[in-house]
Amino acid sequence: MNQTNYTLDNLQHSFEMKSISNEWEQVKAGLKEGFMFYVLDATGIILSTNSKFLERSEWTPKRVIGKSIWQLLPDEESSRHKGHQILQQLERGSIWQGPIEKATKSGQSYWVQALAIPIFDEEDILQHSYIIEEEITDKKTMQTKLEEAAYTDLETGLLSRYKMEEIMKEQLSKKVEFTYVLLSIDKFYTLKELMNEQHEEALLHEFTNLLKKYFPDSEIGRMGRNEFALITPLSDWYIQGFSDFLKSYPVYLDSKSVAITVSGSMTRYPDDQKTLHHIVEAAHNSLQRVKQQGGNLITTLPKDAHSKLSRRVEIEKELMVALDQQHLEVVYLPIIDTVTKKVSSFEALVRWESEALGAVSPEELIPIAEQTGLINDIGTFVLEKSCQQAAEWQQQGYDIKVNVNLSVREFHDKNMARTIMQILQQTGCPANRLQIEITEKFALEAEAEKTIIEQMHALNREGVRFVLDDFGSGYASLRYLQLLPIESLKIDRVFIQSMTKNDKVLRLIKGMVSLAHSLQIRVLAEGIESEQQMKQLQAMGCDGLQGFHISKPLKVSELSEYFE
Ligand code: C2E
Ligand code: MG
Ligand code: MG
Repeated sequence: MNQTNYTLDNLQHSFEMKSISNEWEQVKAGLKEGFMFYVLDATGIILSTNSKFLERSEWTPKRVIGKSIWQLLPDEESSRHKGHQILQQLERGSIWQGPIEKATKSGQSYWVQALAIPIFDEEDILQHSYIIEEEITDKKTMQTKLEEAAYTDLETGLLSRYKMEEIMKEQLSKKVEFTYVLLSIDKFYTLKELMNEQHEEALLHEFTNLLKKYFPDSEIGRMGRNEFALITPLSDWYIQGFSDFLKSYPVYLDSKSVAITVSGSMTRYPDDQKTLHHIVEAAHNSLQRVKQQGGNLITTLPKDAHSKLSRRVEIEKELMVALDQQHLEVVYLPIIDTVTKKVSSFEALVRWESEALGAVSPEELIPIAEQTGLINDIGTFVLEKSCQQAAEWQQQGYDIKVNVNLSVREFHDKNMARTIMQILQQTGCPANRLQIEITEKFALEAEAEKTIIEQMHALNREGVRFVLDDFGSGYASLRYLQLLPIESLKIDRVFIQSMTKNDKVLRLIKGMVSLAHSLQIRVLAEGIESEQQMKQLQAMGCDGLQGFHISKPLKVSELSEYFE
């Protein structure tokens, strides 16, 4: 007798095998009870099923066993395609899982989440596949309803903004040319006021019908209360013809005809713009232009405007990354005190050398940042850097201030004064070492907003000073010199640059200096590019001077000559 059959190892092994096969039987029973279940041979012929499957699919074993999988699917191209995909994947030896639409014997559709497992023999030949299914019809119906709701504008039945963007994404991915047309009804709000709410509904309804009538094969969407869009392969002249079409088909409200005109923009892919974001931006921008010029026109932006816009969008995108990764820098422009002949302050100016876009000047950057709201982040960054710097100068025993340019947009934030005080505290910079430069545009807006004036006074009480920058470039109003806590004004460099050539300008500057001094306001001059300008400004009694003749803006590492 072979003793080895009775070793402990063998006993344990045979016990494990038994328990594994027992366990597997239980799993199989559980799966069969809990799920719909059937077995396919390698060619897709049904070999066996469980009763749950028969119940749901309405098939009898006699009718379904031996038949092909195609019988279980709806008779549609998309279903056949999916069926092939599944069989191919199983043949390759991979599990397939996902949602499938099925059909009952009577042709009724239902949805299942399926898991298909291929079984191979020792020679790696596909024997059969187990298909385990769970019904998800309710979930799928709900999802379809939600998608429908998300894809349609409930008021007009047109496509939603979301769906329009989906369609454009699809066209972009397939590189299909199209024109994105954005339309808005002229004087919509006046029209609305002339009418009541039901009329607004009727107007939208009628306009929708006109759009469908003139553009029957285009995708039409509703983008806002009074904004409609088309994705269309049609030519510009046909699209523009919609204006004439509206003349011949007035809208009838309460049996009265109302003539409607539209403003519209056409943005072509790929000729004008190449990404969804750029297309949408360009469309809005050019629609805005049409409206500002009086409306009643459907047009495109000129080529150069398109490329400017692309750069703008690029700047917006890159700026977010630059701020996040601290790629901005601050340079310092010395301001010389005319009495001591020494530097009294440095004006902090933002600099950005973008990897993707090259150097972006503040003149380009600041207006974009103001529009997008990123100006607050730039402001905080420059404030932190320059207050840190001013604190260092103070610790080293230098009496030097820092001037920071802030935009009015930043002061629309009610907490701006608090933020500035926090930065001063965190950086250890005394409040009286900070001077904030504001432009005349800022001053004009500040005048109209009590909270801005209050914040400026609050900061001023703490010791922060304010400089009115670019004086004379805007309104040169005396009102805000009285209303706002302004300690200095800086004469705009346009005056400085023409003073030596134009006597009138010289007299104007003299007037500005004496006027400011009579109000106890100090006078600074910027943009000094020659010795002659500097001497004349000194003689006229300017208190501070800055400009390329004195120095260009410098990096911190280049400032050493001022600290000896
Ligand atoms: P600004 O405040 O009037 O700053 C002076 C601008 O004139 C600076 O240009 C400076 O480089 C330039 N400049 C100085 N001396 C001369 C000169 O002799 N000749 C000429 N032609 N130019 C001179 P920059 O740095 O390009 O800044 C332009 C404007 O952008 C600034 O005008 C300011 O309004 C704004 N800006 C700059 N940095 C910031 C910032 O951090 N925040 C905000 N909100 N605005 C900023
Ligand atoms: Mg300035
Ligand atoms: Mg200036």
